[in-house]
Amino acid sequence: MRLGIHMPLKKGFAYNARRLKEIGGETVQIFSGNPSGWKPPSISEEEIKERSMLLKQLAIYPLIIHTAYLINLASANEETYDKSINLLRETLRQAKLHDAPYVVLHAGSHGGKGMEKGMQKIIEALKGELSSWPEKVMLLLENTAGGGSSLGGYIKYIGEIVRNLPEIPLGLCLDTAHAWGAGYNMASEKGIDQLLKEVEREMGLDRLKLIHANDTGVEIGSFRDRHHHIGEGKIGLAGFKALFKKVWSQDLPVILETPEMGTDKDKQNLETLRSCLP
Ligand SMILES: [Zn+2]
Repeated sequence: MRLGIHMPLKKGFAYNARRLKEIGGETVQIFSGNPSGWKPPSISEEEIKERSMLLKQLAIYPLIIHTAYLINLASANEETYDKSINLLRETLRQAKLHDAPYVVLHAGSHGGKGMEKGMQKIIEALKGELSSWPEKVMLLLENTAGGGSSLGGYIKYIGEIVRNLPEIPLGLCLDTAHAWGAGYNMASEKGIDQLLKEVEREMGLDRLKLIHANDTGVEIGSFRDRHHHIGEGKIGLAGFKALFKKVWSQDLPVILETPEMGTDKDKQNLETLRSCLP
């Protein structure tokens, strides 16, 4: 398994990529633009090529692109829905230019219109992108902490989207802190087994392509989403050890999204995470 971080871009891509190499990173995730804005990233193809070449030199792969948080393909608001589709399309295109095999997207929220309506919206939106889908780019739906009108809390909803779109390259990004918030016991072998069985039943384990490794201090099943340093939260080292043992044969990239990224804390989190590998 390859371990890496969600990389800040302050001080520039090259500075952070070199630093990531120094602290032992082997894979990396970035936002392609402003994570909380609608504007597509303004970066030239030249700059993107430089990024790709640097990552190749540093042997950091795969590069994973995380979509902006505003994207909500389940939105009942027409303007949000249209903007979401446009920004997703642009992010997929950016991923292709970056040679990034994976784009991560939160499943979205139906805003009170009901699960069924929300699911229909997402499926319809992704189907519409089929004709322009870039080659070798897979969209990974990330489980969320759930609750309210959120669609991504339970694996079964992500499974339903995947099964309805066999023609689109879709996979799962499993976030450990979100799973805990949604009620999956990631601190115990039994809880992890149950979750992985659900993944197998809903879409097949081979759809699991990425792990977001985050500890958390919230109550299990509280539907709250708060990331904590590895080993200092309720999932704990035993939870990460058990999870890695179970998915070891799949050789997945694992990305940290812990607090204080870009400080010594991420180096420490990477080392702690590495100590959890079988
Ligand atoms: Zn995540």
